[in-house]
Amino acid sequence: MEHPYRVVITDCDHGSIEEEKEEISRIGAELILAQAQEESDLIQACREADGLLNQYALLTRRVLENLPKCKVVSRYGVGVDSVDLKAATDLGIIVANVPDYCMDEVADQTLSMILALIRKTAFFDQKVKSGQWDFRLGVPIYRTRGKTLGLIGCGKIGIEVAKRILSFGIKVIAFDPYLEKTPENVELRDFDSVLKESDFISIHCPLNDLTRHLIGEREFEKMERKPLLINTSRGAIIDEKALIMALKQGHISGAGLDVLEKEPPDSKNPLLKMENVVLSPHIGFYSEESISELKRRTARNVADVLMERWPSSVANREVRGKTRAPISIK
Ligand code: NAD
Repeated sequence: MEHPYRVVITDCDHGSIEEEKEEISRIGAELILAQAQEESDLIQACREADGLLNQYALLTRRVLENLPKCKVVSRYGVGVDSVDLKAATDLGIIVANVPDYCMDEVADQTLSMILALIRKTAFFDQKVKSGQWDFRLGVPIYRTRGKTLGLIGCGKIGIEVAKRILSFGIKVIAFDPYLEKTPENVELRDFDSVLKESDFISIHCPLNDLTRHLIGEREFEKMERKPLLINTSRGAIIDEKALIMALKQGHISGAGLDVLEKEPPDSKNPLLKMENVVLSPHIGFYSEESISELKRRTARNVADVLMERWPSSVANREVRGKTRAPISIK
């Protein structure tokens, strides 16, 4: 059968590409899984492609310049670091992404860590399984109602965390310098006030030059209420050495970390031995449903462009008006 378009998956580490196939076949296009990583392999595999789905393979300027038909690259997930955005824009290639496929999962992960730390779930699990049936081992435990959660960053995930935690009778304050309007039921504060007033602090800002080691020695010293600190965003937002010190010195009561500065951590990392630290292996994004949604929406971005529609999320908006694909923009 003659297909009007060819779509290539440069690379991916998920087993099945059923969702992608379904979305791409809807527009009568063919879908090819390349699993290429090297520049020359990518050029060879994608030369005839009208659109690409991309996970980790680096789409450099050289690769993109050798793809004369390519109208769109759609990244699995939010980050577009694997694509040379400037080169794509120069060539009229739309770079699409999927920024919001796992907000519920990350918010749930955050809540699960807050609750596990407050109720000492992981701690007691270990004790009971080692034959110690004694609630006094975990004394003191405090009531959640009436406490304050401080959010650092109150975007899509922060708002979902706030919505969930409010039903526990917990007040939510947040530091987010870029918000245009205050989210419902959240009180905005300056950075130091969040550190000072919070019983739990949860990080939901992106990692960038301004937020790398945003939480360090100075910040731990400002945490007057010895809060629990949760990070489901990116490890390097917390200075891990300062965190270990703050835990040892009791500046904070515990930490819940889905992300670390080095993933996976070294086996000697002291965090692995601390009873008041709950860890998970960067699973915030994951559920069967979120992955399925991610695959579908990554493919749909490509289908949209090939059907001459602007996709739902574009990372290089400056390409507007000079796209290779004849997009009709209302
Ligand atoms: P978002 O862009 O909707 O929200 C981020 C918020 O942080 C924005 O409101 C922004 O104004 C704010 N912000 C930026 N710089 C700040 C600063 N210096 N101080 C305080 N606030 C600042 O993003 P999101 O969808 O809510 O995701 C938040 C983060 O979660 C992502 O950047 C990503 O690192 C992380 N994440 C982790 C997983 C995981 O698997 N653990 C999955 C998805 C996302």
